[in-house]
Amino acid sequence: MSATEALPDTILIGELQFEVRESPRRATVGITVDRDGSLQLHAPPGCAPDALAAWAHSKRMWVYRKLADKDLLLSAKPDKEFATGEGFSYLGRSHRLLVADIEAVRMDRGRIVIPRREVTSGHPGAALMRWYMARGRQWLPGRLERWTARMGLNPAGLDVRDLGYRWGSFGANGRLNIHWAALQLAPSLIDYVLVHELAHIVHRQHTSAFWATVERAMPEYERRKSDLTVEGARLWLGSRGQAFAAFAAA
Ligand SMILES: [Zn+2]
Repeated sequence: MSATEALPDTILIGELQFEVRESPRRATVGITVDRDGSLQLHAPPGCAPDALAAWAHSKRMWVYRKLADKDLLLSAKPDKEFATGEGFSYLGRSHRLLVADIEAVRMDRGRIVIPRREVTSGHPGAALMRWYMARGRQWLPGRLERWTARMGLNPAGLDVRDLGYRWGSFGANGRLNIHWAALQLAPSLIDYVLVHELAHIVHRQHTSAFWATVERAMPEYERRKSDLTVEGARLWLGSRGQAFAAFAAA
């Protein structure tokens, strides 16, 4: 690779497209995020394309956060196809879908297997949502127990439901609700949602006392909160046409 190698007009990093601008007066690489969400990579003279792409790649979380701040991740929600090979996330890991002649959705050797009749009947999304709910009801209680013990706060129960645009809620009946879509998140981010909702047992509003309770249980909660905004924008939400970008745990 020579230093005089021409820079491309655009660089694609995952779903992020950067317009490349060579800036003779710059000494270092920079990124700007426009109001409409368009991205520019500013390169100093002689910058190698590979080095520029590697740098942009290293900054992608920063870019996602910037876009989330501007509510621009709403359009980034992936459209899912219910066909063998499509990827769905469960506890932060992507699993390939397999359409097969079985009775109920299940996880099998790292694949999410979905009944062919659900696909042909036109309701595979509903079947998969029920699967996330069922998995959540099995997986969440053990996870919650660690935090109830640590925080000394006990909800009256735990439900997994469709909560619209909220990750979780703490009901007047003393029960804690978690959105089924949260089961797509990495466990560390689900932990944040659990801690957030547990803190609502003692503080109804998002006061400084509320955040102090969250911080005592999870000192680095701010990082997880911001990661949740970024990751949430990329989740599958069933038939719902929007992402979680504009809010975090309610
Ligand atoms: Zn809240």
